[in-house]
Amino acid sequence: MDLESFVRDVPNFPKEGVVFKDVTPLLKDPLAFRECILRLSEKAMKVDFNIMVAPEARGFIFAAPLAFEIGKALVPVRKPGKLPYKTKEIEYELEYGRATLQMHVDAINRGDRVLIVDDILATGGTMQAIAEMIEESGGEVVEILCLAELGFLEPRKRLSRYSVETLITY
Ligand code: 5GP
Repeated sequence: MDLESFVRDVPNFPKEGVVFKDVTPLLKDPLAFRECILRLSEKAMKVDFNIMVAPEARGFIFAAPLAFEIGKALVPVRKPGKLPYKTKEIEYELEYGRATLQMHVDAINRGDRVLIVDDILATGGTMQAIAEMIEESGGEVVEILCLAELGFLEPRKRLSRYSVETLITY
């Protein structure tokens, strides 16, 4: 099945000049969504890890069924003010301005082997920030797994320290 055909290009979203990869048609097709989770599972099952970490909001959509399918723990990374318990955070550069992501302080422990999951890998800035937060907690990032990567933004250059796997490359 050609998963790429279920990802829609939306020009000028969220701002002029950006072509946004919209994954909602994929989610709306039960067979395509299922196929996507099974293909991600195949990749994830080749990796020796114990915890899956995913950022809101689209990361949750893919990581939850994946964690369920392969029987792994799931840790959410969220925007400030959303997580109820004590948090640690990381601030990072966006194209315009800065962003902050938080994780519960007890989510990752020394020695944890972590797989990070998200929908689209664009500049790689979000993944880099999450990876740093995991490493500060003593975890090791063993793989970054995404549905698709925007190859023209060269996220792999920035993430050269990590193993990166995706199902689709643009
Ligand atoms: P990065 O930090 O790699 O530049 O951006 C990746 C983050 O922004 C991911 O959490 C992803 O969900 C979101 N993102 C950036 N560009 C796109 C896009 O074109 N489509 C979708 N669905 N998400 C995007």
